[in-house]
Amino acid sequence: MTAHTLPAGLRRPLDGRPRQMFIGGAWTDALSGETLESRNPATRALLATVPAAGKADIDRAVSAARSAFEGPWSRFKPYERQVLLLKIADLFETHWDEISLSDTLDMGMPITRTRANRNRVIGMLRFYAGMATALHGETIDNSLPGEIVSFTRKEPVGVVGAIIPWNAPTAASVWKIGPALATGCTVVLKPSEEAPLTPLLIAELMAEAGVPDGVVNVVTGTGQAAGAPLAEHPGVDKIVFTGSTATGQNIVRASAGNLKRVSLELGGKSPVIVCADADLERAVPTAAMAVFANSGQICIAGSRLFVARAIHDEFVERLGRFAAGLRIGNGIDPQTEIGPLISRRQLERVSGYLEVAPAEGARLVTGGSRLEEAAFADGYFVSPTVFADVTDGMTIAREEIFGPVISAMPFDTIEEAVTRANDTPYGLAAGVFTRDLSNAHRLANRLHAGSVWVNTYHAIDPAIPFGGYKASGYGREGGAEHLHEYLNTKGVFIRID
Ligand code: NAD
Repeated sequence: MTAHTLPAGLRRPLDGRPRQMFIGGAWTDALSGETLESRNPATRALLATVPAAGKADIDRAVSAARSAFEGPWSRFKPYERQVLLLKIADLFETHWDEISLSDTLDMGMPITRTRANRNRVIGMLRFYAGMATALHGETIDNSLPGEIVSFTRKEPVGVVGAIIPWNAPTAASVWKIGPALATGCTVVLKPSEEAPLTPLLIAELMAEAGVPDGVVNVVTGTGQAAGAPLAEHPGVDKIVFTGSTATGQNIVRASAGNLKRVSLELGGKSPVIVCADADLERAVPTAAMAVFANSGQICIAGSRLFVARAIHDEFVERLGRFAAGLRIGNGIDPQTEIGPLISRRQLERVSGYLEVAPAEGARLVTGGSRLEEAAFADGYFVSPTVFADVTDGMTIAREEIFGPVISAMPFDTIEEAVTRANDTPYGLAAGVFTRDLSNAHRLANRLHAGSVWVNTYHAIDPAIPFGGYKASGYGREGGAEHLHEYLNTKGVFIRID
């Protein structure tokens, strides 16, 4: 299937769209004239070509963001920023079908899931809108001689460079643009080269909502050619990054030149602990989808499954049956539960783990291969896979796979489960299944992870901070404290005697 054979209803996010970058309120090509292709990972159909920005384009975008920050945008009152964010949220609501379809076409996530992300995205915009008028400094008594009034002010940090991955383009864009607008910052957003289309659609909605020119800029390009110059740009005050831990480390190094602020949402190797008293009716499908959702291409994938020995064999058997019954296919089909991987590179990466696991002694329960039948041949499909008899030192138990692969391991005591669950460089998320309230609290306290879910998984709410411990990054998204990462605190002293 090529883009030309997509039914008209599916072409809405594609037809008549500007296929340029958005800088200073204008649509523009890369100065070099170079372009990137965006293809649908289920069929490899060409969806669009977009500009491949280089350093000179990043310079233009940062300069537009700086002018906007120092221009009329700086005079927007909190209430005006709030109204703008609410208007953007309403436009997202109106265009949600198109936005979710754009994500499904561009990065393969099943349409039922991209549609269901609605509240996670629009709710977040409305949460930030509410916060825009709630930001404040404090009056603080001092112990200085004489009469001096002292207080703090909260001021926007300035130009924010936002670099995002491909696995949730809409949510990742909004979680960065939202707090920037709420606090009065301006943004240069660099989407992933693998999924640039929805961020460009979002740029259109920003313009339609009346976001002033230069406040939100979207620059498409590769990590090396566009991401790196943004991360090291002296005109950028803060980088907010979501992506792999290796790239996060590069970003920190690149940020050193002007000591810009950095917040990082990075990779994970999240544990899920199933206690012997767990409700298996709930635990089996939830633990399965903790990994298989979005074909395992989720930072919080609960890919290390620790199961109490007493129920281990039954659990693994039920998990295997559940995995084998999942409907795999093109994400545009509403029946599809598991879509493709994003790219050939990702397919090869995941296939490498599928080969190394049995070679290191893991037992294949189900899945374990690329799908090559006619319906899947043009895309990057891998069957949902469960390995048992995995040990803590095996490659699949240590490295982030970013594919639909579960490593199941038995444990004997809760103490042992906690120690093994925490034995990873990462600390993004963790899951627990138990009916015992004491164990629930004990495990929630002791797991080294930014989010712990008990008897559920994937729960994310705009008001609750989300982020990592250890090599999963620092800084938080969501919650009131998130906004402080976009603000400077100034102490003011006024002598009044
Ligand atoms: P990636 O690190 O390869 O790329 C992420 C972004 O960084 C892309 O826009 C890319 O172009 C850019 N980039 C690459 N090299 C760069 C450089 N040297 N300087 C600046 N920018 C550069 O990650 P990916 O493959 O797109 O996404 C998968 C990774 O993202 C996984 O590790 C996953 O766990 C992580 N992730 C984390 C979260 C979270 O919230 N913690 C959410 C989603 C994804």
